[in-house]
Amino acid sequence: MAGWGLWLVDHLARRMRRLLDERDHARAEAKRAQQDSERDPLTGVLNRGAWRRRLEQLTENHREDNGVAKPLSVLFFDIDLFKLINDSLGHGVGDDCLKAVARTVAEELRGGDVLGRVGGEEFAVVLPGARRIHAIAVAERIRTAVQTRCQTVGEEVVELTVSLGAAEYLGGEESLDALVERADRSMYQAKDSGRNMVVADAAVPAAAN
Ligand code: GH3
Ligand code: MG
Ligand code: MG
Repeated sequence: MAGWGLWLVDHLARRMRRLLDERDHARAEAKRAQQDSERDPLTGVLNRGAWRRRLEQLTENHREDNGVAKPLSVLFFDIDLFKLINDSLGHGVGDDCLKAVARTVAEELRGGDVLGRVGGEEFAVVLPGARRIHAIAVAERIRTAVQTRCQTVGEEVVELTVSLGAAEYLGGEESLDALVERADRSMYQAKDSGRNMVVADAAVPAAAN
C-alpha cells in the first residue's frame, strides 16, 4: 500500500510539473509573438505602431508625475538622398544601409530611449528625461556616428548621412500629433538647409523658460 501511495504522489508531481512547463512555454511563445509583431523585421527596431504606443505610455507617465513634470523629447531622422543609393547600388544594399543606420543609432542611445522605424527610411526616437538642449546633443551624436561609421556597408562605399529634427514635449496641453509634427517639421528644415544637419524646434515648456 505504501508503495502505491508513493507511486501516486510521484505520478501526480510529474504530471503537475509537465502542466506547469507547458503553461510557461505557452506564455513565453505568446510574449515572443507579441514582441515580434512590434518589431520591424528588417532592422529589428520597433515598428511605427509600437513606437507610437511607447510614446503614449511615456507621456502618460510624464502627466502622472504631479509636481515637477519630467522632461521628454522626440527626434525624427531620415537618411539623406537614399533614393540615389537604391537606384545606383540596388535595393539589397539599400536594405543593408537601413540595418547599419539602425544598429549605429541604437549604440548611441541609453537604456530607456525608444528607437522606431516610422517610415521607409525614416526613424524616430523618444528620449525620456531629455530637455531640448539634451535632445540636440543626442541628435548631434547620432549625426556624427552615422557619418563616421556608415561610410561603407559590406563592400560598397555609401557615405550615409542623416538629417534630424528635435522637439521637446510641452506637457499636458500639447497633443502627441503636435509634438511629432514639430519634430518632423524640424527634420524637413534640416533637409532644406543642406542635409546632414540637426534642427531643433524652438519651443520649450513654460517652466523651462
Ligand atoms: P532626402 O534626402 O530628401 O530624404 O532624399 P531621399 O532620396 O532619401 O528621399 P526620398 O523620399 O526621395 O527616397 C526615399 C527612398 O527610400 C525611396 C524608397 O525607395 C526608399 N525606401 C523606402 N523603404 C525602403 C526599404 O525598405 N528598403 C530600401 N532599400 N529602400 C527603401
Ligand atoms: Mg531620405
Ligand atoms: Mg524619407
